[in-house]
Amino acid sequence: MQKDIALFSELCEVLLSEEQSQPVAKPIPTSDLFSTLDLSLNHEGIVDEELTSKLGDIIKYTPKTASKSFFNQLFGGRIGKATLGDLLAVMLNNSMYTYKVAGPQVGIEKEIIHQISRLVGYPEGSDGTLAPGGSMTNMMAMLMARDLKAPEVRTEGQTKKMMVYTSEASHYSIAKNAALTGIGRNQVRLVRTNDKGEMQAEHLSELIQNDLNEGHIPFFVNATAGTTVLGAFDNIRAVSKVCKTFNLWLHVDGAYCGGVIFSERYKHLADGVELSDSFSINGHKMLGTPLGCSIIVTKHKEQLYKSFSNDAEYLYQTDGDDYNLGKTSLQCGRRNDALKLWTLWKSIGTSGLEQLVDKQFQLATIARDYIKSNPDYTLYSFDDSISVCFNYKDIPAKELCTALYESAELMVGFGQFKDDEFVRMVTINSVLEPDDIYAFFGKLETFVESKLLKTLA
Ligand SMILES: *Cc1c(COP(=O)(O)O)cnc(C)c1O
Repeated sequence: MQKDIALFSELCEVLLSEEQSQPVAKPIPTSDLFSTLDLSLNHEGIVDEELTSKLGDIIKYTPKTASKSFFNQLFGGRIGKATLGDLLAVMLNNSMYTYKVAGPQVGIEKEIIHQISRLVGYPEGSDGTLAPGGSMTNMMAMLMARDLKAPEVRTEGQTKKMMVYTSEASHYSIAKNAALTGIGRNQVRLVRTNDKGEMQAEHLSELIQNDLNEGHIPFFVNATAGTTVLGAFDNIRAVSKVCKTFNLWLHVDGAYCGGVIFSERYKHLADGVELSDSFSINGHKMLGTPLGCSIIVTKHKEQLYKSFSNDAEYLYQTDGDDYNLGKTSLQCGRRNDALKLWTLWKSIGTSGLEQLVDKQFQLATIARDYIKSNPDYTLYSFDDSISVCFNYKDIPAKELCTALYESAELMVGFGQFKDDEFVRMVTINSVLEPDDIYAFFGKLETFVESKLLKTLA
């Protein structure tokens, strides 16, 4: 093992130097992938030297999500202490289902859940768990809501139309989860949003009333803290009022921007989150841990057990349910995704996480101010969002983003809201500083002037 740790260090050096010299890896066209790199698996093995050399080649061509040119998605960067925690979790290789095999790691997960419940404003005795991704934590919320409303579904299966409500700007996992759980995509009602991409509570109320009139069973409302494209925050207080009126479970999907609960300055964006029944957050987005670190907390501890526990005598042989986390889990064997967040949190404190979150908003303000002061740009996103959406010189966003990627200049994506398509630059990458924001625009402008406009002409 010692030798492999040395090889690992060597490969990390390759990666770190590549990030500096070639922050955007030259993409290999898919048609050339298997002829450019040796990805083959063969009957005979190879010696270490050959293996590290091949891994080095693969590293060179792999997209660099921790470079200063990565603005593509809702994650990015690398924070040393969080990475350290994750590497340690790999070395320890526990499974989180029982106290017997995870020991103190169980306490680490429980402390994270406890602290997040506290920040959300849930009562003592709330509980939660981790799952592989924000899509899965959203699914867990949907399942708890369904089982609370119609407990017989767990044994009998779905027999009636049970209705889900989420805004048209919400994450696609809500509809996908309806399909996966047997609720059915057609039972998902898309609530209209206002110009800023926020759910309209009056429309929600109308949709629920219509479904009740039809004899359907509304059970679940999903509000979003940070929509995937515009980074908009639904008005949780207004949505909660509707949920209370009709006795529906309210979940807040904070996968993208739920991190605002750490910030004195920005937590007002998720005002009323304590009124929800469940809340999910991705540590690997705003909090800057490696993928994946998805957490769900709920006020309804007993429902968490009712929906996810199964008796398994071969597994739960010691200790109480509270410390056997498999009793509240979607999975059986489960990776330790808590240690990376704990290591980061312990080292920089809650105040350090607050600074991480605040910085992303500050960088986004710098980007918006730049755009507003330059007439070649059109801005589509709003204040208090870390998604900065714009177009430059009316160049179609898809064309611009694709050309930047193919020329290995910048990695940035595009998005759509209502009738507009635009570049979506995200300031979540934890290595970014103000200068990198200006460098982004400088690079984009130089690229357009020197290369793109020429090829278009
Ligand atoms: C990213 C995201 C998700 C999905 O999270 P994964 O960890 O990628 O599965 C869900 N909801 C919102 C709002 C997101 O931005």
